[in-house]
Amino acid sequence: MTGNEDTIYDELGVPSVVNATGTKTRIGGTLIREEAREAMDRAAEAFVRLSDLQAVASERIAAVTGAEAGYVTNGASSALALAAAACIAGDDLETMARLPDTEGIPDEIVMPRTHRNGYDHALRLAGAEIVDVGANDYHLGTGSENTEPWEIAEAITEETVAIAYMEKPFTRPPLPEVVEIAHNHDVPVIVDAAAELPPTGNLRTFIEQGADLVAFSGGKAIRGPQSSGILAGRETFIRSVARQHLDMHAESSVYEPPEALVGADGLPGIPRQGIGRSMKVGKEELAGLLAALDAFIEEDDDAVLSGWHERAERIAAALESVDTLEVELANAAKTDAVSTVVVTVGEDASLTAAELVLALRRENPRVFVGADNVHRSWFTINPRCLSDSEVDYVAERIVDHLER
Ligand SMILES: *Cc1c(COP(=O)(O)O)cnc(C)c1O
Repeated sequence: MTGNEDTIYDELGVPSVVNATGTKTRIGGTLIREEAREAMDRAAEAFVRLSDLQAVASERIAAVTGAEAGYVTNGASSALALAAAACIAGDDLETMARLPDTEGIPDEIVMPRTHRNGYDHALRLAGAEIVDVGANDYHLGTGSENTEPWEIAEAITEETVAIAYMEKPFTRPPLPEVVEIAHNHDVPVIVDAAAELPPTGNLRTFIEQGADLVAFSGGKAIRGPQSSGILAGRETFIRSVARQHLDMHAESSVYEPPEALVGADGLPGIPRQGIGRSMKVGKEELAGLLAALDAFIEEDDDAVLSGWHERAERIAAALESVDTLEVELANAAKTDAVSTVVVTVGEDASLTAAELVLALRRENPRVFVGADNVHRSWFTINPRCLSDSEVDYVAERIVDHLER
């Protein structure tokens, strides 16, 4: 029993998925919390002015993150795009209207080379040009060189609008050092912390360390809508985000946006539909994210982590009976706080790691395990998105394939 029978996907003729890889967008990210689902249902029952709702969201996000302000975005990815747009345009309406065209205006975002990743495309989406600095020796094992603080400082010029920082427990240089360099040069720091929850305390940590804008995914640990995210940070940047994101269609004599979030004072006109307009957030996602966030901050990190750990142990114990497998528990501190089962497929097994991973994916329901290292003959099982019955099911399916 997987508990997956009779899903809407089966009804649509699409195999559903037993998710043993964690909060991965390509297989649906997360299951939305009950509280958030209820909030989304209720949000669907009435209209609301989105800028009013974002203004309240800003206060709520500020309260839980310790930032001056906040904004609900269309995933952490668009939080990054909007952060870049805010750093490029500031309060300038003409620049807002031009983005992503940045010809003739400062648009460079400095980034340690070792922080570059697939998600930084979001920064370029706003028109930014990424200037990466440093060396990759430490990661390659070819030396101890990483990105050194002085290299970041040297790369800051008149063209620099921000420094981008990819937060992981192992990223270097430490965020406070990068913040110090940035602020000495009057440049803001954008932090991608999309997947750095739990611990819940991380909602505040990077802001406390001086980051100017921090992006979190709403569809991972927070378990809000899959297409939601949070941007927390300085009021001036969040105001720029709001002006570039909200649907602004209005006649000037009746333009009266919420003062604290958007403001109309001092503006030469009404902001046009900005670059963020194609990253819209619905009232349902907004209400759902806020409800999910409320529930998330009440969670007991230790209880959640030990629950996941116990599941990982159960899976590991079940797989240890297969003599062609080598099973290990990794408290994957390198990627997140979740205990992960690392399974190495021996040479004498009936299937290679890649064959096994594919066979699992071809089932109905599809079973997804972590496959980034199948070329090294190992795969991973992350228990955080499995239901209790699925924990045993995943182990059974693996054993069944290998003993067939
Ligand atoms: C998941 C992730 C994102 C994107 O988050 P979404 O909420 O899916 O847009 C960005 N950066 C990193 C490091 C991530 O892990």
